Amino acid sequence: MMIRGKLRYHVTLAIGVTLTVVFACVAYFYVQSQEQSILGEYKRSLHKVTDSLSKGLSSIMVENHAEIMPAYAARLKSLRGFSEFVILRTDGSEAFRDNLSINSVNALLGSQAFATHSKPERVPNMNPTTPAFARVLANAGDASYEVVDGSGRRQLVFLDAIPGGPPCIRCHGADQLVRGVIKIVTPMNTIETEILNMRIQTILVIGAALILSTLCVGYLLGKSVVHPIEAITGAMARISAGEFDSKVPLQGGGEIKRMAETFNLMTASLKRGYDLLLIERGKLTTIIEAAREAIIVTNANDEIVLINKAASEILEKTDAQVRQEGFLCLLDDAALMNQLLHGVHTQTVAYRGRTLQVSAASIDAKNGRLMGSAALIRDVTEEHRMLDELKRISITDALTGLFNRRYIDTTLATEFDRARRTNKPLSVLLLDVDFFKKFNDTHGHDQGDRVLQAVGACMKSSIRHYDSACRYGGEEFVMILPETGVQGACTIGNSLRVAVEEMAVDGLKVTISLGAATYPGLDVSKAEQLLEAADAALYKSKEAGRNRLTSANAM
Ligand code: GH3
Ligand code: MG
Ligand code: MG
Repeated sequence: MMIRGKLRYHVTLAIGVTLTVVFACVAYFYVQSQEQSILGEYKRSLHKVTDSLSKGLSSIMVENHAEIMPAYAARLKSLRGFSEFVILRTDGSEAFRDNLSINSVNALLGSQAFATHSKPERVPNMNPTTPAFARVLANAGDASYEVVDGSGRRQLVFLDAIPGGPPCIRCHGADQLVRGVIKIVTPMNTIETEILNMRIQTILVIGAALILSTLCVGYLLGKSVVHPIEAITGAMARISAGEFDSKVPLQGGGEIKRMAETFNLMTASLKRGYDLLLIERGKLTTIIEAAREAIIVTNANDEIVLINKAASEILEKTDAQVRQEGFLCLLDDAALMNQLLHGVHTQTVAYRGRTLQVSAASIDAKNGRLMGSAALIRDVTEEHRMLDELKRISITDALTGLFNRRYIDTTLATEFDRARRTNKPLSVLLLDVDFFKKFNDTHGHDQGDRVLQAVGACMKSSIRHYDSACRYGGEEFVMILPETGVQGACTIGNSLRVAVEEMAVDGLKVTISLGAATYPGLDVSKAEQLLEAADAALYKSKEAGRNRLTSANAM
């Protein structure tokens, strides 16, 4: 609505100002010309008066009635409507007041043809060098100028020549271009009133024309330009408010209509893009909400703008709590979050008795400005538990619960390296159940298994916490004894042997034979060689009658 008001106001103002300037100029020049015309008309009417008077004078003179002229001239002065009406000689003094001309005429005619004044007087009226007066004498035409009288009124001084000519030569001798000058002084108030009326009329007419033109142009511009533009701006405002279905009506013509069409096309394309965006956003929202991972996003002001459902569950906090505590306190550990944001990015952390895998990063715009941060948090507690279990299973013998062959291979190699590095002893015991086959053959395979389990349990209970009891395969077992010398290995082996000998499995007696090998003291450079040495010693024990221990170091 703001746009609508302003546009209309500006257009109306522009039209109004333009038309006012145009009409003011027209009015000015019209008034000027009218004033000139009124003044010119007035001067023409004055000229008619002076011309008639001039012709009358000439007739009177030619008919030899010059004696009436003084009285005639005196009567002119009393004519109403004129401030001054006099006949002047060419020297600027009043005519018919002295005897100069009468005397010269009488002298020329050689008689006393004309009576002289009894009281002649010379009455100067104008300086003959006055420009207007001089022009009249020079051109035998008229001239005028304005004066302001003592009471401040404007007066028009109109001068007109009384032409000379052949009729004048008889009495006045020499031929003169101008015989005299008629001077009329008339107040300008009549003309001023006429000019004022003309001005008032002009102003009224021009004012009416101005108002009418402004209304007409304003209406036409409003219809063809302002209204269509308002319709477009209105639609733009609605579209910017999200009403993408808004269409601009195709009003006006030419550029405005094309602009509206282009705008509608643009809006339609925008709407298609917006709809697609909504669909994609819907998909994304579904994915985010359905995700089992916690997703938390902040804006450039570090305010949390997105928390999905999983976030509340994983963090054990309400949305409001998460928003209030802020991004850095998601895991109640700001230092950790800072570390994640500024380098590490992904880390597995313990949180409230569970294991979480946290990934966090800053979101940078193309121009390098920070747009926000995002965190993705997975609860990997179960995953890690399963991995640990898998790892345990992979190194555990299912029947006896002892470590299996895979464990022996890796652990023995590690321990052998450590022993060499630290120069500390390492011993292995290789055990084999004596005549085991007979348990299977006589009492069945299950019985054989129970014997193996019993030997395994015996091994477990006889080892120290840093020793490893393992099943090598079949009815053969291995004990890995770090930091154990020959003596220690023999002691442990023999006590185990005795423990087995002393137990009964389902009433059946079991014995084991053992081979021990200790590093250093043997020519071995690899873990397998230590095991081979123990195997050789075991073979000796079997050979020597079983239920005994042989140390390879003593062989
Ligand atoms: P020796 O005193 O010479 O060691 O004689 P032995 O009978 O113990 O040795 P032999 O190698 O001849 O027999 C081993 C038997 O162990 C053969 C095999 O059937 C049996 N056996 C191997 N693994 C298992 C197992 O997991 N369970 C059972 N029940 N028997 C097994
Ligand atoms: Mg065997
Ligand atoms: Mg055996």
